[in-house]
Order: sequence, then structure tokens, then C-alpha cells
Amino acid sequence: MDNLIEVRGLVKRYGDFALKAVDLTVPAGCVVGLVGENGAGKTTLLRAILGLIRADEGSVALMGRAPSEPEARAEVGAVFEENACFGHLTAAQAERVMCGIVPNWDSDRYAGLLEAFGIGGKKLVKDYSKGMRIKLNLAVALARRPRLLILDEPTSGLDPVVRGELLDILLGFMQDERNAILVSSHITSDLERIADQIAYIHAGEMLFQRDKIELMEDMAVVRCSMARIDQLPEELVIAKRGGAFGASALVRNPERVRALMPDAVLDAASIDDMMRYYAGRDAV
Ligand code: ATP
Repeated sequence: MDNLIEVRGLVKRYGDFALKAVDLTVPAGCVVGLVGENGAGKTTLLRAILGLIRADEGSVALMGRAPSEPEARAEVGAVFEENACFGHLTAAQAERVMCGIVPNWDSDRYAGLLEAFGIGGKKLVKDYSKGMRIKLNLAVALARRPRLLILDEPTSGLDPVVRGELLDILLGFMQDERNAILVSSHITSDLERIADQIAYIHAGEMLFQRDKIELMEDMAVVRCSMARIDQLPEELVIAKRGGAFGASALVRNPERVRALMPDAVLDAASIDDMMRYYAGRDAV
């Protein structure tokens, strides 16, 4: 099985919001970073992949199976921001619960992770800080010996040191090339560090899923007057913005743009830049 997740034409409607025929693939050996504005549908998509909500249309294959099959989730570790299990338990008591219900539970790995994370002891989980709670959730997810991690905003609200530790753990997990990670985040610099591919969901629509390096090489931000931007061939301009301090545009094929405008300022586009321009695409 090469693709640990395959989503095809997924539709989920909630009142005036809908996931619109979303496609997504997570191949083995790959970290896919899911980005999108608040309310774009990231959590909804992750929930549908895990079978926590039913899609209205389309298909999801999780580890090659329907998400509702217990075997599909046996090798999947999921961490959601709001995971609030184990509140009145200690980390050790949480393990006793988990090893009773998880077939592949790895006690040594759990103990090693708690030690590495500096959590555990007599403290009740409800008294943990946010960072400690996320670390515990990640330890629980990894102690299942998963092949696939599905993480919703795992680093949000964490300090840079803890974020760095978590990213190192995720990179360690990816040393085994049969593994894969699907991770949503607003901290795009984290994704720039660990993701192989970026999937961008905007207002329920998957705008693209692309190799991160190709994406970075294929886009740039050009700054000059709006009149000059308007002279560029239309197919090169993804989105443009005008303001009191001049104009700028997100462009594709930076080499061609450079050849057409040798004296314009051309900067590499970050994931944040891409999101800002795409999100305001109609508001030029
Ligand atoms: P954020 O970055 O803010 O976490 P998100 O991209 O994860 O956002 P979702 O949580 O998937 O976005 O929400 C997408 C839309 O679906 C929102 O408009 C939200 O109100 C709606 N939605 C999500 N869950 C439900 C639900 N159970 N009932 C009704 N609407 C819902």
C-alpha cells in the first residue's frame, strides 16, 4: 500500500459551509502539511478521514480501508487540539487504560517518551499545561506504534523550544519510510521545516497539493507598480495587491518574470505569502 490516505471527491455540508469535492493523497514516506485559513475545513477533513464524521459524497481510504473498519485505525495515531481524555488520571494511569484497549500498545516506548518529554509523575492530566497535554497526546499516539500520524494543530500555542522538540520527534518518526504524517497547522514555518508536500484548502476547496520545494521554486512575490504588473502575461500572475506603498503580486515561473522585469524586486514566496495572496484573490 503506497498511499496511507486517499480522499476522492469528498463532500461534507454543514449549513452554509461545505467541503467541495476534496481530493487528498498521503503517500508512505511523506509528511503532508495541511494549511488553510480559520474555518477553511481542515479539522472537518481530518475528522472525515478518521471516520469521526460521515461524508455526504466521495470516498476515503485510510490504510487502504474504509475508516469505519477497526483495522483501518489500528496503525493510526491521531492528535487533535481538543483531545481532553484522561483529565482525572495521571500519565501512568492513562497508560493502564490504553494498554487494555490498544492491541499494539508499546509500554517501553510510552515510558521513554514521557521521560524524553519530561512529563508524568503524580500530576493529574487536567493540571497539565497546554504543551504538556499535547506531549502526552503525542506519546499516547506514538505508543500505538502507528504507521500514520494525523495531527490537528499540534504545535499551536507552544513555545519555540517545545515546538522544536515536537518537530524533531516527528522527523524521527519519519526515519522509517513506511510511515507518513498528515498535519494541519497555522504555523507555516513548522511546515516549511518538516513537510514534503503542502495541501492548501481555501473555503472548503482544495486549491492544490504540491511538493513543497517545487511549490517554493515555482512561486515568488514581485514588487513594482500596478501598471507594470498589469503588463505581465496573465498566466504568470496568480494574485495581485495594490496599496499606498506600491503594488505586489504572487507570480508563477519566477525565472520568466525576472527575464521580463529585470529591475523589479522578486522575493521567494513563503507559505504565508501564498495564503495571503490566494485568500485575497478577488480583492485586488
Ligand atoms: P480553524 O483553522 O479555525 O481550526 P478549520 O479549517 O479547522 O478552522 P473547521 O473546524 O473544519 O475549520 O470548520 C469548517 C466549517 O465547518 C466552519 O464554518 C465550522 O463552523 C463548520 N463546522 C465544523 N463542524 C461543525 C459541526 N459539527 N456543525 C456545524 N458546523 C460545523
